Amino acid sequence: MQELTAEAIRASFVNAEERDLELLDIPLDHMLIDWFPLDFLGWRDASTRSRCYVVVELDGVATGLVLRAAQSTARAHNGICNICRTMQPGNQVTMMSARKGGEAGRRGESIGTYMCADLSCHSNVRLAHPLAPGEFRASVDFRIDSTARRMRDFVRRVRDAE
Ligand SMILES: [Zn+2]
Repeated sequence: MQELTAEAIRASFVNAEERDLELLDIPLDHMLIDWFPLDFLGWRDASTRSRCYVVVELDGVATGLVLRAAQSTARAHNGICNICRTMQPGNQVTMMSARKGGEAGRRGESIGTYMCADLSCHSNVRLAHPLAPGEFRASVDFRIDSTARRMRDFVRRVRDAE
């Protein structure tokens, strides 16, 4: 994705209330970001751990969501992240909910899905699938593309909620 400034990120949120923007913490200085191969930018608020943020590009426009992470309960079972489809220990997959954009959001509606608790899908999909001998590069690229697409679809659903 294209490099974004803190102001551009702040302006990208489609489901943020004023209070969210007051609390918003964009630790760009502390994040070592390699923008070009990045599918999306995701991070957890350092001071309020239940708050997460994700920014994707939708048709070339930076579009961000404020997410609430469910209280993490130490679950015995592994879980699958719905974005990168990587199997993770239970406490590393969390239900993330996003207040819908627009009118639906003002009515208090939200959309949730399971995601990697630290929003590390971008790395997980690459780490979890090193290229095996004889494996086609295309199949790895497909998983990476699918991960990016699923995150974009989620953000779009939240943004376009009526
Ligand atoms: Zn994931």
